[in-house]
Amino acid sequence: MKILVLNAGSSSHKSCLFDLTEGHSEAPEPLWRASLDWTHQEGSVELSASGSGESVQQVLPITDKAAGLEAMVKTLVEGPTQVLSSLGEIEAVGHRVVHGGRDYVDSVRVTEEVKAAIQQLIPLAPAHNPANLQGIEAMERILGDVPQVAMFDTAFHARMPKAAALYPGPYSWVEQGIRRYGFHGISHQYVAQRAADLMGRDLADLKLLTCHLGNGCSLAAVKGGISVDTTMGFTPLEGLMMGSRSGSVDPGILIYLMRQEGYSADQLDTLLNKESGLKGISGLSNDMRGIAEAMEQGNARAKLAVDMFIHRLHREMGAMIASLGGLDAVVFTAGIGENSPLLWQRASAPFEFLGLRLKKDLARAKDDQDIAAADSGVSVLVIHTQEEWAIAQACLGHRYSF
Ligand code: AMP
Repeated sequence: MKILVLNAGSSSHKSCLFDLTEGHSEAPEPLWRASLDWTHQEGSVELSASGSGESVQQVLPITDKAAGLEAMVKTLVEGPTQVLSSLGEIEAVGHRVVHGGRDYVDSVRVTEEVKAAIQQLIPLAPAHNPANLQGIEAMERILGDVPQVAMFDTAFHARMPKAAALYPGPYSWVEQGIRRYGFHGISHQYVAQRAADLMGRDLADLKLLTCHLGNGCSLAAVKGGISVDTTMGFTPLEGLMMGSRSGSVDPGILIYLMRQEGYSADQLDTLLNKESGLKGISGLSNDMRGIAEAMEQGNARAKLAVDMFIHRLHREMGAMIASLGGLDAVVFTAGIGENSPLLWQRASAPFEFLGLRLKKDLARAKDDQDIAAADSGVSVLVIHTQEEWAIAQACLGHRYSF
């Protein structure tokens, strides 16, 4: 079954085409992958696509996102990356949707009602839900009435116990839906299951700390396959220090800035989401690789940014381990988590008292790997997240409704 997956972010759209049948135990290589990057330069989009063993990269003078998506999808049937003879071969489209609110706790077939719900949730995920909706509507225009499935980043955390999910504000917040939803759920769920498979254990018997450390960062405490706690909350701003997001700060700072300096909601939004975190502290960028290099060269603010990132990571890892009440494995995933031996070492160091020990020679690898020493009491796994494949599998699960 040919399934197109769209993973739309605030500044990029990634897409993959899978040909799936039942019974894949590991993520297969997609037939085609493409991405659109809107940050390339004003008034243009960078399109990269690969398929049929060929790849192309081009800058297109496109400002309209729908036109960009159409150009991307056309590379499936035209030019060197062609893998299909017609777009009619696509049997389903799967989407990552960031916020599913209280009502969407599993993947769903997209209907008018589902689209309206994604629209209504825009205030809770203003950088993401509009792009997700745009992707769904663009596919309706380009592919006609092909079945579409939405998989929500919040869904995996929907079974968090109330004590972890609610904020200690007034009780009216509970009724208003002001609660902790958690994000990166597709990734946390995938890597938790993959960890169990690699360990040869049943997920239902494991206590796992999954660390999704990319430009956005979050941890999840996965007990018996259920997310019982996570670091992101009502929005993806809570928790760890991130690329350009502050993570948790004293809300009193916001009251102070509003009263003393006249900050508006929009200004605070920009400050906390775009000008904080690694970028804000280092003064360089949101890119951990560049910041780590600057640190090596003696840049004091880069060092401070990395030290703060690690300190906050330790603090939140400790909190997740307490929520788990034990620890069978730590899993590192996403851009920083999959690629940085320095991060693995520094993140793991304080947990030696739990018997966690890493191998001596650590190096990045293309494959998933166990980086714990032979005598470690806790497994430590580096797993490449496969959100697109997880979404394609969700589509496969809905095929009888198509
Ligand atoms: P993601 O959002 O998952 O694409 O992750 C992006 C983050 O991963 C950026 O901060 C990158 O600098 C970081 N990253 C990618 N490769 C490496 C690497 N080899 N070492 C450290 N950080 C990396």
